[in-house]
Amino acid sequence: MNRHPQQRIAVAGAGLLGRLLAWQLLRDGHAVTLYDAGDLATPPAAAWTAAGMVAPLAETVVGERCIYAMGRVALERWPQWLDKLQAPGLWHPHGSLVVAHPQDENELTQFRRDLDDAIGQPAGYRALDAAGIHALEPGLAGFRHGLYLADEAHLDNRGLLNRLLEAILELGGECHAHTPVTPHPGEIATPSGRRTFDLVLDCRGHGAKPSHPTLRGVRGETLHVHTDEVKLSRAVRLMHPRYQLYVVPKPGGHFVIGATSIESEDRSPISLQSSLELSSALYTLSPAFAEARILEQGVNLRPAFRDNLPHVTRGDGLIGANGLFRHGYLLAPAVVDHVLAEIRGEGERPFAAVLSAAAPQESLP
Ligand SMILES: Cc1cc2nc3c(=O)[nH]c(=O)nc-3n(C[C@H](O)[C@H](O)[C@H](O)COP(=O)(O)OP(=O)(O)OC[C@H]3O[C@@H](n4cnc5c(N)ncnc54)[C@H](O)[C@@H]3O)c2cc1C
Repeated sequence: MNRHPQQRIAVAGAGLLGRLLAWQLLRDGHAVTLYDAGDLATPPAAAWTAAGMVAPLAETVVGERCIYAMGRVALERWPQWLDKLQAPGLWHPHGSLVVAHPQDENELTQFRRDLDDAIGQPAGYRALDAAGIHALEPGLAGFRHGLYLADEAHLDNRGLLNRLLEAILELGGECHAHTPVTPHPGEIATPSGRRTFDLVLDCRGHGAKPSHPTLRGVRGETLHVHTDEVKLSRAVRLMHPRYQLYVVPKPGGHFVIGATSIESEDRSPISLQSSLELSSALYTLSPAFAEARILEQGVNLRPAFRDNLPHVTRGDGLIGANGLFRHGYLLAPAVVDHVLAEIRGEGERPFAAVLSAAAPQESLP
């Protein structure tokens, strides 16, 4: 039985945070209205472009230590949520593999040192030789050394977003596609007028920039390919002196190769250079990828604050959650737990020091 008074709640943005929060709030018995500027079946969200890796170890190497602690929450929460969504097959907890070609093995050594520094001992990886790599991923060719990060996972993120939308509709959520909105305390401004609510959640990702001038978009490009010639069971990261790329297996012989990280808010199509780097990285993982068919080229903006950490802002009648940057699937569970605790008035908010802190205001140099 719901212990909380039912509220009329509007959620602006049906990307990752918007869908997760709408679903959870409907489960809590609230009346939820969800708006997105784009289509709901193939949303313009970064969450749709993303690879869906849940990588607390590898992401802590490039981020703050608190990412690791929040990421550990994700490893626990995703299987629970997917169970409730009756979609456990979307979760792939088989670890991830980090490899480098023989000429780039210094990069692997450095990554291992960085991992030790970032996490401390034991850092939760296992060093592999060629036989160990082959045992895990027989589809890879020519690697002598690698690292197996057992405590990492990936999600079928598009399957998740679709399932969340179904669940929201099943629970009676009201959904509006192609409706760009402006959230205000207790009110949503739509192209056709204003509507009042008890509470408004701003989950617009990079679309919230007009409300948060210090929010920036970090361009990320991906390729989606299909082949039946190569099988992978887990995400594979390729260390390289100029870029670090990954390949994430998706259902039906699909793979996502990503991702560039460019300090630009340009949403124009993928550049020739990025396309070449992504496809050649894939080809060097295994020549069997040569005949893969390129299905899609993805471009989107990761929403980031100056400190590259997520922040939750709370005012009367308006809560904003944003800044998930490159760690959306990794950090969303901790952020969603925090926002729900705010709404439910629960005391336990383990990441309040990070999430409730004001986002840094200074602009980029
Ligand atoms: C190439 C790429 C790869 C990535 N890979 C990973 C990964 O492997 N693992 C990981 O953890 N993270 C990854 N990420 C990051 C992750 O996708 C984001 O952190 C996450 O999607 C942010 O969630 P969000 O809900 O804040 O924003 P989004 O998912 O972008 O959703 C925002 C939604 O708001 C809507 N919107 C915007 N403005 C308005 C408006 N005015 N009115 C109504 N709706 C509006 C948008 O249409 C969109 O649907 C990746 C991102 C990119 C770009």
